[in-house]
Amino acid sequence: MTLPFRTDVPPLAGKRVTVMGLGLFGGGVGVTRWLVASGARVTVTDTRTEAELRESVAALRGLPVEFRLGGHDERDFREADLVVMNPAVPPTHPLLPLARAVDTEMNLFLKLCRAQTVVGVTGSNGKTTTTALIGEVLKKGLRRVWVGGNIGGSLLESADAIRPEDLVVLELSSFQLENLAALRRSPNVSVVTNLTPNHLDRHGTMEGYAAAKRQIVSCQREGDVKVLNADDPGVRAWKSAAPSRTYFFSLKERTGRGVLAQDEKLTLYTTGARFEIDVSRRRLPGTFNLANMAAAAAASFAAAGGRWEEWRESCEEVFNAFPGVEHRLEFVAEHGGVKYYNDSKATDPEAAIAALETLPGPFVLILGGFDKKVPFDVLARTVAERPVRVAVLLGQTAPSIEAALRAQPRVPEIVHVSSLEEALRVPALPGETVLLSPACASWGMFRNFTERGNAFKALVAARGGG
Ligand code: ADP
Repeated sequence: MTLPFRTDVPPLAGKRVTVMGLGLFGGGVGVTRWLVASGARVTVTDTRTEAELRESVAALRGLPVEFRLGGHDERDFREADLVVMNPAVPPTHPLLPLARAVDTEMNLFLKLCRAQTVVGVTGSNGKTTTTALIGEVLKKGLRRVWVGGNIGGSLLESADAIRPEDLVVLELSSFQLENLAALRRSPNVSVVTNLTPNHLDRHGTMEGYAAAKRQIVSCQREGDVKVLNADDPGVRAWKSAAPSRTYFFSLKERTGRGVLAQDEKLTLYTTGARFEIDVSRRRLPGTFNLANMAAAAAASFAAAGGRWEEWRESCEEVFNAFPGVEHRLEFVAEHGGVKYYNDSKATDPEAAIAALETLPGPFVLILGGFDKKVPFDVLARTVAERPVRVAVLLGQTAPSIEAALRAQPRVPEIVHVSSLEEALRVPALPGETVLLSPACASWGMFRNFTERGNAFKALVAARGGG
């Protein structure tokens, strides 16, 4: 089924527009405000209740918006001139075929954005970190930089202010990319950090997920640039997906043009030149973050388009100073010789594996959450190989994680709990690390990973005070 996506920006004054899915990360609020400012008569509908959406509802206070929360009403779809759907809404949703026309916040933004260089970042993990790094490096240059997309907020209200010579850096989720196919567009500089099974509940298969992500390169043209992870065979093969120039990044070997990250040094190879970036003072931990920096170096190089020595210095400065993004392997505190790390954004097994391979342990590891139908066998193998003394399991996935753990030759102590509070009551010994790196989404127990991470941090702080 193909949805009636608008490929132009429709006239909005006096039109009835339904925003489907308000969400909590700013995209729904941004598009609603922009629609109101454009003269549309806006209805906001969401299956979540007003209480669940309170911050977003509060952000719209005072605007002439009709709310239909805690469920949808068919009429808001049948009678609307346009339905703007949240990227989290699956395109197969039964109410969508009732709509006369469909659009999304990101598609609207891209149709309006006049910047000649749009950098897009996708991948299963590392999107936010890499997007933030690229943004910080480019901000040290002379051009104005706008950072947005899945990283949070909305650039739609800024679209008018964005000039052709400005640089736009967007984090793009697989859901946003899936909808972008309707515009037959890809960013000018595209970055793919890696590709591992994720969101299979929505995309059905790994092939479906990869096909959605491939939109980031598939409509690129000559003169565009794709930055691909050479160490990820699935991603590497996308070199031939478009006639754009390829920059590979790798932790292992030099593969033509691109960045090799080794021994705390990034070397960018391009035609006739070579640049070295020393990252030995970096604060972002782990080899996976070296890969994120390598990707950010190649992308910022492609987007900067000149002044190479300044670009190199900016990379060195930013990569060594960047403190990391909240909820990503974030050090929280040390109490009684026990260290606490909040990695709530580890919503898939790969991210939890990266955490286990980065921190020394020994661990009391908190795992589990919403079931996205991804396999846990590789994670279980890592748990068996790493010094995990206790695995604390919670949420919907607890039984499947337990089964995967028990299939390994070494099985840690397994404790089932029904809340984070209870998880933090599982005793940890001095010298150990309590790591919240759940390998699963938080839905069902929390509104999102932010709330889960904040709850963890509050519980840890309460422990410090008591
Ligand atoms: P995303 O936006 O793709 O979710 P983030 O930068 O927010 O990526 O990081 C999400 C989680 O994945 C965190 O737990 C982080 O520590 C981990 N992570 C970040 N980069 C990588 C990577 N390149 N490979 C594996 N895990 C990563």
